[in-house]
Amino acid sequence: MKRQKVVRKHKKLDLWMVRVLKFDPKAEPEKWAAYKERNPEAILVKTKPSQRTLERWAYDSVAKTPCGCKVEPDGKCPHGVPSWLIILGFI
Ligand SMILES: [Zn+2]
Repeated sequence: MKRQKVVRKHKKLDLWMVRVLKFDPKAEPEKWAAYKERNPEAILVKTKPSQRTLERWAYDSVAKTPCGCKVEPDGKCPHGVPSWLIILGFI
């Protein structure tokens, strides 16, 4: 089973982070539903962007968020999700 990653907000800190799920959301949709209920902002992600991609985004002044929106490198999308650059502490 491939470990699935999720991006979600820290419960207490105003901080987004990447976490590895301990279950496969496709194989156990009921677990994923329960997880989503506890963490409504959680987004499943395949991979983190590479260092090169992050550098290109910083250079181009256009970055993506885990939900796939395009934002300014230090911005948030309409879903309230910050850019990968912020989440990964690149800026
Ligand atoms: Zn978005």
